[in-house]
Amino acid sequence: MRNPGEAQAGGTVLVAGGAGFIGSHLCAALLDAGAHVTCLDNMQTALPSNLQRLLQRERFSFVEADITQPLPAALTDGRTRFTHIYNLACAASPPLYQADPEHTMLTNVVGTNHLLRLAEQTGARFLLTSTSEVYGDPEVHPQPEDYRGNVNCTGPRACYDEGKRAAEALVFDYARMGRADVRVARIFNTYGPQMRMDDGRVVSNLICQSLEGQKLTIYGSGNQTRSFCYVADTVDALIRLMDSDMAQPVPVNIGTQAEITVLELVAAMEAVMGRPLDITYHDLPQDDPQRRRPDISRARALLGWEPTTQLAAGLARTCEWFAEEIAASRPPAQRVA
Ligand code: UDP
Repeated sequence: MRNPGEAQAGGTVLVAGGAGFIGSHLCAALLDAGAHVTCLDNMQTALPSNLQRLLQRERFSFVEADITQPLPAALTDGRTRFTHIYNLACAASPPLYQADPEHTMLTNVVGTNHLLRLAEQTGARFLLTSTSEVYGDPEVHPQPEDYRGNVNCTGPRACYDEGKRAAEALVFDYARMGRADVRVARIFNTYGPQMRMDDGRVVSNLICQSLEGQKLTIYGSGNQTRSFCYVADTVDALIRLMDSDMAQPVPVNIGTQAEITVLELVAAMEAVMGRPLDITYHDLPQDDPQRRRPDISRARALLGWEPTTQLAAGLARTCEWFAEEIAASRPPAQRVA
């Protein structure tokens, strides 16, 4: 197998959602591999600092637009022939995607269709970042790609879960009709630097709360499980998936098999912080999945990929990054030299 990203090195790559958490890491990795990268983002949940860092780089350009609307001429006028299109555009944290559920659903369905049409026009290979949420609150454990899921289509998570399921349906229809060459990644819980402090997800919440000396908010009993994958591993898998040869496209789970409870995550945080942390318990949100762990046999076989970052090391790096962000967000008088 070639080095990951080699096939995209001389390419012109569009990353929708490229200023977001995973998207900004992906843009940086593609630039490192030698690609020309155009980032398309509506800056709804993206961190401006992620974009500022990327704007310093050569071969990087930015288009501000919302994919629910017809794509701007800068992308569709035929002057740029994209070779690869990644779609990571959607708010992904439950409180953020539930804040505007109509927009979340349309981003996944209408937005994905706009990007698929661009792929059809330009002949670009298209990669959709789907989600473990397509499995809902799973009754099969761990979750292989052929498990069809247990999603509540009328619940508060449906705008995201069903939106991504519809996006997958569209992508596979384009492939069946010979309209686009497609790849689909189902991303499980991912963490790392460049998340928003107010993202609302468990890793960012627990880290920021412990750094600020607050009690850690645990929803429900804390015995629900997740499998937390470090962002560099996730991005490596996305680039390999885009590179991969597939006669018939199939979805591929991307995540780690190291499943832990939320309370075990607290224990891991205590080890990183070197001190005990206080907890307050809150109600479990509706439709919060009880268990989640990917079966990654397909990613291993097709991509030769395996996550390599241990939770302790990934959490330590993420804590360091958040500590710097918190310090930088304080007025100068309160900063400790
Ligand atoms: N969670 C928690 N405290 C928080 C935020 C989340 O206990 O401050 C729980 C949440 O209820 C869920 C798990 O942690 O069971 C992971 O939540 P997250 O929002 O990170 O991701 P998702 O539910 O989408 O997997």
